[in-house]
Amino acid sequence: MFKKSGLQKRREIKAARVEKARRGVVDVYGVEAPKGSLLANKVILREVNPLGPLPNFYVDRHFECKDCGSDEVWTAKQQKWWYEMARGCISSVAVRCRSCRYKEKLRKAEARRVHLEGLEKKHNK
Ligand SMILES: [Zn+2]
Repeated sequence: MFKKSGLQKRREIKAARVEKARRGVVDVYGVEAPKGSLLANKVILREVNPLGPLPNFYVDRHFECKDCGSDEVWTAKQQKWWYEMARGCISSVAVRCRSCRYKEKLRKAEARRVHLEGLEKKHNK
């Protein structure tokens, strides 16, 4: 009977692993990657998140806007951008819809302006 060498076996195992990873077949929990999912770049993710498990892929996620309660989808593409381009922490997730996010941005800017104005008044007394 033909016996495979250890090296050959290791090569085959590695090739199968690489193929699996390339296709994004499973995530860290062994869950199969659904159609339409996007592969995660773990090298970039690891730079921002030195500890803990990382996803192998992104899938569209449903969430409810915390301000207006509307049903929203955080797409795989948006997640990839957030985690890999904007370098958001892997534990951070979308919580507001687009228009509430915009309102929140304005609210924060206004609060900052009022705060700085207050500081200025205090200094000029
Ligand atoms: Zn909203």
